[in-house]
Amino acid sequence: MSATETAIASAEAHSAHNYHPLPVVVASAEGAWMTDVEGRRYLDLLAGYSALNFGHGNRRLIDAAKAQLERVTLTSRAFHHDRFADFCTELAALCGMEMVLPMNTGAEAVETAVKTARKWGYRVKGVPDGMAKIIVASDNFHGRTTTIISFSTDPEARADYGPYTPGFEIVPYGDLTALREAMTENTVAVLIEPIQGEAGVLVPPAGYLPGVRELTRERNVLFIADEIQSGLGRTGRTFALEHEGVVPDMYVLGKALGGGVVPVSAVVSSADILGVFKPGEHGSTFGGNPLACAVALEVIAMLRTGEYQERAAELGDHLQRELGLLAGGGAVETVRGRGLWAGVDIAPALGTGREISERLMEERVLVKDTHGSTIRIAPPLVISKEDLDWGLDRLRTVLSA
Ligand SMILES: *Cc1c(COP(=O)(O)O)cnc(C)c1O
Repeated sequence: MSATETAIASAEAHSAHNYHPLPVVVASAEGAWMTDVEGRRYLDLLAGYSALNFGHGNRRLIDAAKAQLERVTLTSRAFHHDRFADFCTELAALCGMEMVLPMNTGAEAVETAVKTARKWGYRVKGVPDGMAKIIVASDNFHGRTTTIISFSTDPEARADYGPYTPGFEIVPYGDLTALREAMTENTVAVLIEPIQGEAGVLVPPAGYLPGVRELTRERNVLFIADEIQSGLGRTGRTFALEHEGVVPDMYVLGKALGGGVVPVSAVVSSADILGVFKPGEHGSTFGGNPLACAVALEVIAMLRTGEYQERAAELGDHLQRELGLLAGGGAVETVRGRGLWAGVDIAPALGTGREISERLMEERVLVKDTHGSTIRIAPPLVISKEDLDWGLDRLRTVLSA
C-alpha cells in the first residue's frame, strides 16, 4: 500500500466517519499550497472554509504564535492576562463596536449570540420569561451543537438528534415579507449569514440585508450577523454586510480570526447588549486565552491596513469574471459569489460535486463540494494571480473532459 492508502485505512479504522475527506493526506503547507505524504503539491482553493484567509504558515502569524508560546499560553479567565485587553479593544475597533465576548469555535460563538439575545430579550426588551423567539433563515449553517442543528433545515445535519431546542422560527432566506410576518413582540433577534456559505455561497437579493436592518430596528429586534465565514476579508471587505452599507447589532466571528493557527471566535457588539452578562452567567475555559489573543491580534493588525480586503476585491473580480465565462457553457449552470468566494453549480450530467472535486484533486487542485452538484471556491487571500489562473485552467480542463 502507498503511504496515502495506509494513512487513510488507519484513519478509517480508528476515527468516527463523520467526514468523507478527499483521498489526499497532507503533510505540510505554505501559502496557497499543500504537500501530501508522497511529495505531491496541491493548490488549496478551500482555505479551511476561510479559516486560512492569510494562507498556510503565514510568517507574521506563526511568529506571533511562537513568541506567545514562550511567554504564557493559558491562564483561564480566573485571572487577567496581558494580551486580553488589547485583543478586545482592537477587535471591537475593527468592528466599529464596543465590546467583545471571546470563545473558541464558531458554534460556541453562535451559542453565545443566542444566549445574549435571549438574556437581552428578558432583561432589556421585557419579553415574558421563556417566550423569547429567534428568527433564522432556511438553508442556514451556524454550526453543529444540539441547539444550532435544532434550527437547521438540512436533514443530514439534524436527523436523529432530537429532542430539539425550541424558540426558533425559520423563514425563507431572502424573503423580507416572510420575515416581517414571522416577527412578534417576543422576537428578540434575527440570526442570518449575509452570504450563505455552506448552502453554496448564496448571495441574497440586493436590498434584502438593508431590509432586515430596517425591520429589526423598527421592531426592537437584534440583527445578529453570522460572519464566521463571510467576514474578515473574504468578500473584499472586512464584513460582507459592508457591501450593502449595513451595520448589525452583533457580529459573530470565527474561522479566520484564529489565522488558521488556533481556534478563536467571538461575539462583538455594543455595551448595551453584551452588558447583560454578569460574572458566572457564561464562559469558556479556553475563550480569550493568551495564545488565541496573540494570534488574533496579529490577524486584526493585518486586517486594519485593508490590504487583504483590497486583494480579495481585485483577485475576486478576476475570479468572478473568469467563472462567469464558464456559466451557461453547458458544463456550468450557475456561478454565485462575492470577492474570493464562489459557488459553482456543475451540470449534473458531468458528475456530482464530489466527482468533480476528485477529478480536480487528480489535477492537483483541492476544493470541496456541497449540496450535490456545487463546488465551492475560496482560495487563501494571499494566493498569487498566477496560481489562481493555474487553478482556473485546471478547472476548465476537468469541465471540458
Ligand atoms: C463554520 C461556520 C460555523 C461554525 O463554526 P465552527 O468553528 O465549525 O463551529 C458557523 N457559522 C458559519 C457561517 C460557518 O461558516
